[in-house]
Amino acid sequence: MILLKIGPSMDKKIFIGVGSNMGQSYKNCVMAIKKISSDRRAYLRSISSFYQTSPISAIEQNDFINCAIEIDWMGTPQELLQFLNEIESSMGRVRSEKNGPRVIDLDILLYGNRVINEDSLTVPHKELHRRRFAIMPCLEIDPHLTLTKPLATFLGETGDDQKITKLEGIGFDEGE
Ligand code: AMP
Repeated sequence: MILLKIGPSMDKKIFIGVGSNMGQSYKNCVMAIKKISSDRRAYLRSISSFYQTSPISAIEQNDFINCAIEIDWMGTPQELLQFLNEIESSMGRVRSEKNGPRVIDLDILLYGNRVINEDSLTVPHKELHRRRFAIMPCLEIDPHLTLTKPLATFLGETGDDQKITKLEGIGFDEGE
């Protein structure tokens, strides 16, 4: 008889929101994606276009660059959150005021079909359905994503003040 060692399985259909509005925002996003994909627990499946988006905040600050990526992850959701927080810290993210400017912001938007309600982790991300800058890049990767209803239907419920422009001709490779 051959005994196969069964390891932890790879969770799939995990969507991460990537954003920056300090320093070289586009390069910051690219650097964060590279840091994610270079970890052996992560497998990068897809990267959306990059978008220029208006901040959702009363605090005066620059526009953001946002995108979303889809990954598979060999580990728990909590380990993924910790990993993303470590990347944010390594890139100089300082947690100051809520909704203030940031060098890099990495959010777990969706983790397959999982629903998680813990003090430090809420999945699906609790603001996903309200934020165009999160919805649109995810839909670009997978137009059929669904929360309580198709994710696309939430777009019509977001405020018109949320400006979002797809940056044509700018992709992941240009950040080299
Ligand atoms: P933020 O200012 O948006 O980067 O918030 C970061 C904090 O939100 C982290 O300390 C997390 O513990 C918490 N958090 C809760 N749910 C999530 C999620 N789905 N993705 C990322 N951070 C989350």
